[in-house]
This record gives sequence, structure tokens and C-alpha cells, in this order.
Amino acid sequence: MLDLLIHSIYTQKEIFLRELISNASDALDKRYYLTLSDENQSFDRDSFQIRLAADQQARTLTVADTGVGMTKEELESNLGTIARSGSLDFKESAEPAEGVDIIGQFGVGFYAAFMVAKTVTVRSRSANGGPAHEWRSEGPDGYTVKEIGDMEPGTEIVLLLKDNTEEEKYDEFLEAHRLSAIVKKYSDFIKYPIRMSRTRSRLKEGSESEYEDYTEDETLNSMVPIWRKNKNELTDEDYERFYTDKRFGFDKPLRHAHVTVDGAVSYTALLYIPEKAPFDFYTREYEKGLELYTSGVLIMQKCPDLLPDYFSFVKGLVDSADLSLNISREMLQHDRQLRLIAKRIQERVKSELLSMLKNDREKYAGFFESFGRQLKYGVYSDWGANKDVLQDLLLFSSSDGDKPVTLEEYAGRMKPEQKNIYYAAGDSVEKLKKLPQTELLSDKGIEILYFTDDVDEFAVKMLGAYQEKPFKNVSDGDLEVEGEPKAETAEEDKAMFSAMKEKLSGGVIDVRASARLKSHPCCLATEGGVSIEMEKVLSSMPGAAGVKAEKVLEINAGHAVFTALKAAYAEDEEKFSAYTRLLYNQALLIDGLSVEDPVAFANDICALF
Ligand code: ADP
Ligand code: MG
Repeated sequence: MLDLLIHSIYTQKEIFLRELISNASDALDKRYYLTLSDENQSFDRDSFQIRLAADQQARTLTVADTGVGMTKEELESNLGTIARSGSLDFKESAEPAEGVDIIGQFGVGFYAAFMVAKTVTVRSRSANGGPAHEWRSEGPDGYTVKEIGDMEPGTEIVLLLKDNTEEEKYDEFLEAHRLSAIVKKYSDFIKYPIRMSRTRSRLKEGSESEYEDYTEDETLNSMVPIWRKNKNELTDEDYERFYTDKRFGFDKPLRHAHVTVDGAVSYTALLYIPEKAPFDFYTREYEKGLELYTSGVLIMQKCPDLLPDYFSFVKGLVDSADLSLNISREMLQHDRQLRLIAKRIQERVKSELLSMLKNDREKYAGFFESFGRQLKYGVYSDWGANKDVLQDLLLFSSSDGDKPVTLEEYAGRMKPEQKNIYYAAGDSVEKLKKLPQTELLSDKGIEILYFTDDVDEFAVKMLGAYQEKPFKNVSDGDLEVEGEPKAETAEEDKAMFSAMKEKLSGGVIDVRASARLKSHPCCLATEGGVSIEMEKVLSSMPGAAGVKAEKVLEINAGHAVFTALKAAYAEDEEKFSAYTRLLYNQALLIDGLSVEDPVAFANDICALF
């Protein structure tokens, strides 16, 4: 089963080395942190290193570090868990979605070692004291741990490589040039030296033809973290690889920004805009944040204070020499420098998004598919405090073509006499296109925004207006279409409408002649602040379930149905009642609401035959 896990997850075997090196680097970070925060710990900076050693005869590859090390308990709980169950249970019960890296997700990167090794031996001693132990495992069958003789704090991982097969030559992981290339490829930015002693040959001193072998320590990585490198030396692939190596996401980032700022506060930031929302993005479990470094030392894995909620999708890191290493989480929140950095990052992300919107519309539309809802929530939350930052980043479907539009584009092509920004809300664009309430507006060539996300209407209610043009729902009770007379109920029809209103009491607050319909017989309009779509959303929220839209039944006085209705009103009380119910129930169905009594509705229809 472990086999299944390791084979299905990593197609490239070579990345086992990346995993082991990244663990070693984490362990060195922890040790470094320890020396800074604990007076009893002292350690010479020069001894922070990761060593690779290959032994051809024994077929072993060793990865050793002078990091924090592990106690017996830590060996068991950190390395032993997966062999017992945990992540493996998960793997058994549910196939992970394509592209989901469960090793990364469940923190079992260490197990990638079993892709190439038949036996893994881990010797370790904790920098916090205690004896050294040896953990050994052949994979699926569990592991053993025993105490061993003294060693320096740190960890040594020995891989006994698998035997070569027809297709797979595991020997390659014993070759210095291959190891060196893998390190360069995946671990170049690791900030501790990754050393290996290499044997080369050279001309013997004093000789012109005689060669001799010599061995020399070589540092395989450049150690400069990518964000400290010069932008000009880096390619898009370098940035993308870093994103992947860091496990910022399983997608390919849409865009990155590498920013270095010197001034009131100095920092370097590397920011990524992902393409796809992580599976838990729209849940409470999702944790936003950027990695926070001070002078290259990681002080927090996910610093939430660097990002506003509405940009919670941004990944990356910030490195600033202006922050103290021993700063606590609580202190960070109030740190003036950090707040300044956060403000700049927010501005930068916004300008990156605007530039993507302007210069690469297609890409932006893809981004908006993934994260648009978060931006709209951002407009709505905190009582609209951030609406000015966000309003120009929004996209909505519209009656003008298939591509989503910005508010600026909409406003820019409004008719000269047009007073409002019109929108229709419902569960799909297809349905909204056919909505009777849009009929007259569409006929006059007025563009209508189509809202299909729950949050849309709440967000524009918070905006109120854009460029001083108010937002108006096409179903609004007091809608007045530009250049059209307001519908007046003829004196002679007033009594009939109030009779209808009486029959529908509890369902509608009024029945009126409609000015917004042309070919359709009837529709619902709403009065007050709550629209029908808002009622639907609110009714699914525990605290707001009682909130109802105030509905008005509108009848098209130019429609044949109206003539029949009048005749029934004059002659046949029962028929009039049935017609009234039918029209009301139809209007409910059109707006995606359910009829109160479906059986009665069906019987009313049958009575027409
Ligand atoms: P992750 O690195 O995502 O936590 P891994 O499977 O790679 O998951 O490692 C599991 C844990 O084992 C690490 O979190 C760490 O606590 C411990 N570990 C692994 N390698 C080392 C090491 N070289 N030194 C100290 N601890 C280590
Ligand atoms: Mg790891």
C-alpha cells in the first residue's frame, strides 16, 4: 500500500532528494531559532550544513544535517505515523483529486525516500539533549527504533538503494554529477550549504602526463534565496519552480511580483497570484498568510496580518531586516513596520490585478473565476469599508455579449438618458436572459448585468452606486424605464386589482398594472430593500430565515390574459379566483420560487381544459 502511495504520487523519483533536503533545511532553521531564543544553546554558524555522501560499494546515499535533530518520541511520531495509518487510511478510502499532492498535503514528504530505497535508516540526536537513536524501516511493515552510541546533534538519513531493474537504474543516485544536478534543480535556494566531497583527477605536480585523484568538498547550491537574487537573472520558470517547491499551490501561478523596497521600511516581497482556488479556499479551514522572514530567517510560516481577507488567495513571502526575530504573534499585529508593509502589499496586489485586467483580460477572467467571489465578499464585508479598493476589480456577466464586463465598461456605454445600472439576479445567466422583468429594458437596448452568485446583490447594495449611477434591480417595484410612461392603473381596473390583492393576501402586498412587460402576462416586483434573490439567500441562513421580500404581482394590461381576467371578474367569481391564483403561481415559478400548493395549482390548470 505504501508502494501505491509513493508510486502514484511522485512520477519523478529524483524529488525524494528535494524532500530530504527540505526537511534538513527546516531542521537547521529550527536549530538556528533555538540558538537565538534559548541562552543555553550555542552553536557555531559555520557548522550549519547539509551533507550528501554516496557509497558505491554499499549502495547507500546519506543525507546528513546539523539541524535540531529528533528524540526517540519525535522519531516515532514524526516518521512512524504514516506506516501506522493516518494519511494511508485516507489514501485507501478516497482517491485524491488529480494533481493533488497528498505527500505535500499531509506532511509525509519524508516517505518519498521509499521511492528509491529499500531500507531507510535515520540516526538522530536532539539538540535539546538526550541520547541518540536509530530508526529503521523497510517501508510498509513498520519500523524499529533503538538507542545508539553518542553522536553530534542532528540527523543522518541513510538510504539503501533498491536493486536496479530493467526500467529503473537506481545507481544514478550514487553518481556525484547526477546528485549535484538534482540539487541545483530543486534546492539551489536552500540557504544552508549542501556539501558533498567529490573526487576528481588532476595533473600530478611537476608532471606533464601523470594524473592523480584528489578529493575536495564542494558546495552544490548557490544558497542565495530566490528573492535575494537579481530579478534580471531569474526566469519565469525559476519563479514557477519556487512556487511549486514551496508548495504554495499545485497549480501554476498566473502572475508573480518580485518587489524590493528601500525607504521608511525596507523589505523584499515575492508575491504570487494563483490560478486555482485550493480545495478548502472557501471554507473556514483555509488559512491566509505570507511567509515572514527577517534577514533570510523564517519567523512565521503564515503571517495573516500581511494580507487583507479579500486578497487571502495571495501566496508568497516577505523578508525584512526591520523586524525583530523574537517577535511574538501578538506583537506582530501591532508592529508599525509590519502594518506599513501590509499596506504596500495590498496596494501592489491591487495594481498587479488591475494590470492583468487591462493587459491580459483572458487570464484575468480565469483568475476571477477562481477568486472573484472572495473579492465580492470583500466589497460586502466590514460594512463596505473596502469597496473603493475593490469595485474596479469586479466582473459580471451581462446582456452585452458572453464575456464578463467591469463596472467601468458598463458605465462607459450607458445610454445618455440612462439613470441606473440595471441588474437581474437569479441562478443562471440562461434563465436571466428570459426573465420577463428584463423585457422592456432589453427591447430598448439597455444593458443588464446578470448576477448569479449569492453574494452579488449584497455586494452592489453595499456599493450603492458606481460613478454616481445607482444600481437597480430590474424587478424593483419603483422601476421607471427611461423614456417610458409609468404604468397607471386605470380607474375601472382598481376594484379588480384590489379584489386580487385580497385573494392573495399573505403572498403579495399589491397587485398592479405593469410598465416593464411587453409580451409576458405577469411578473413579480418587490418593494423595499429585500429582493427575491436576497430572500432566497437569507432563507438559507439560520439567523435571517424570516426575512421576506415584499412582493407585488404585476399584470400586463396589454395582454390577452388581462382581457380574460376582466371578463371573469365581471361574470364568474370562481373563475376569477382561479385565474388570480394561476397568475400568481406562475410569477412565483418564473422567479424560481416554489408554489405554495402544487396540487391546487395543478388542479387550477386542469380546470382550464
Ligand atoms: P513535513 O516536512 O511536511 O513536516 P515530512 O514527512 O517531510 O513532512 O517530515 C515529517 C517530520 O519529520 C517533519 O515535520 C520533522 O518534524 C521530522 N523530520 C524529518 N526530517 C527531519 C530532519 N532531517 N531533522 C529533524 N526532523 C526531521
Ligand atoms: Mg518535509
